[in-house]
Amino acid sequence: EREERALQERTPGSRALHARAARTMTGGVPSSYQARDPWPIYLTHGRGSRVWDVDGHEYADFHNGFGSMVQGHAHPAIVRAVTERIALGSHFAMPTEDSVVVSEELARRFGLPQWRFVNSGSEATMDAIRIARGVTGRDHIVKIFGSYHGHHDYVMVSIGTPYADIGPADRMNSLSYGAGIPEAVVELTVAVPFNDAAAMERRIEALEAEGKPPACVIMEAAMMNLGVVLPEPGYLEAVREITRRHGIVLIFDEVKTGLCVAAGGAVERFGVTPDMVTLAKALGGGLPTGAIGATEELMAVVAEDRVKQVGTYNGNPLAMAAARASLQEVLTGDAYAHLDQLNDRLLAGCDEILARHGLAGYAVGISSKGCVHFTDAPIRDYTSFMAHQNAALPELAWLYNANRGVLMAPGREEEWTLSVQHTDADVDRYLDSLDAMAGDLAA
Ligand code: PLP
Repeated sequence: EREERALQERTPGSRALHARAARTMTGGVPSSYQARDPWPIYLTHGRGSRVWDVDGHEYADFHNGFGSMVQGHAHPAIVRAVTERIALGSHFAMPTEDSVVVSEELARRFGLPQWRFVNSGSEATMDAIRIARGVTGRDHIVKIFGSYHGHHDYVMVSIGTPYADIGPADRMNSLSYGAGIPEAVVELTVAVPFNDAAAMERRIEALEAEGKPPACVIMEAAMMNLGVVLPEPGYLEAVREITRRHGIVLIFDEVKTGLCVAAGGAVERFGVTPDMVTLAKALGGGLPTGAIGATEELMAVVAEDRVKQVGTYNGNPLAMAAARASLQEVLTGDAYAHLDQLNDRLLAGCDEILARHGLAGYAVGISSKGCVHFTDAPIRDYTSFMAHQNAALPELAWLYNANRGVLMAPGREEEWTLSVQHTDADVDRYLDSLDAMAGDLAA
C-alpha cells in the first residue's frame, strides 16, 4: 500500500492523461496489455537504456517494449536508417532492396532458407500455422500449455488458465483465453506441458488414434511468457525427433527469443533447427514487423500460392530499413557478448540479494532475458509455475521498481529485457530496487 500510494503521488501527469484518455480510448489505453490500475504510466520519450514519463521521471528500461527494444531507444543507426528511408517514401506495397538484404541475413542466422514478412508476432504465428495446415492437410495443432503466441483465435487457448482448470499432463484442458473465440476453433488447439517430451508424444499418439493427427507443434524453445523457463537438457532434441518421426511441422516461435538470446536466436543458442521460425519484436527495432522462416519444402505452398501469405504492409520499407540497420549495425556478435556479460551480473546479483535476505526465489535468464521466480521450487512448466510462484511478489517488485526508476513490464508472467545500450549502472539500479524490497520483507 505504501508503494502504491507513493507511485500515485509521483504520477499526477499520468493520472490526468488517463482520465482524459478514458473518454475516447477504451480503458484509457491502446491495448489491454498496457493497462494498469488505477492508471498506467504515460511516457514521453526514450534514449539508450532510459525512458521518461510525462511527470519527468527517468526510468532504466527493463520492459523495453515487451522485449522489442534490444537495440535500446533511439539507437543512432536505426534513427538514421528510418529517417533516410521516410524521406524517400514510407510505403509502396512493392518490394524494396532492404527486404532482400533482411531475408538474406535471416537465412544465414537461422539456418532456414526461405522467408516472408508480416507486421507483428501474431501475424507471424497465424501465417506459420496456416502454412503447416496447408502443407499437411491437417486441422489440429499442438501448443505448449501456458505459452502465448499472439492474439489470433488459433492460439488464444490454454493460456492464463486457473490452476484448478489445467488438467493432467496427458489430458490438459483446452480453454479459450477470453470470450469471442469459437469453441470449434478452441477444440483444434491441444496443449501439452513444457519440458516433457514423453507427454507430448503420448498426446500426439492419442490424437492420431482419434483420427486427428496434428499439423504442427508450435512452441518457444525457451518459454518467455512465464518469466523465463529454460528447456531441460535433451528436451528440444527429443521434440525435434518426435515431430520428425510423426510427420509434424515443428515451429519455434522466436518472437521473444529471436535476436534476443543470440544472433541466430534460440536456433543458434540451443542448436536445434525446427522446420519453421517466427520472428517479430526485436527484428524491427521498434517498428511493427515480423517474419516467417522455413524450409524450401514448406514454403513451396506459398511460392505456388496454394496458401495465401499476404498483407498490405508486409515488408514495409520503414520496417525493413530498421530491420536492416538492426541486423547489420546493431545486433552483431559483439552485442550478444555484452548482453550475456551484463545479464550474468544481474542474475548473480539477484540470487545474492535473495539469499542475503532469506527470501525464497532464484533468478533465471539467458542473454538479454531474465526474471526472478519467487519460490524455491523448480519452475519447469505452467503447472509448476502456477502451483509455486508467489503471485503477489512480482506485482510488489513492479511497484518497488517503478518508484525507484526501474521500468518493468507489468504482470507475473513477464521477464526483463536488456538492451545493447544497458550498462552496469542500469543493472545496479535494478539490484538496488530488489534489495530494498527484499530488505523490507525481511524486516
Ligand atoms: N509470440 C510470442 C512468443 C510473444 O511473446 C508474442 C507477444 O508477446 C507474440 C507471439 C505476439 O506478438 P505481437 O504482440 O507482436 O502480435
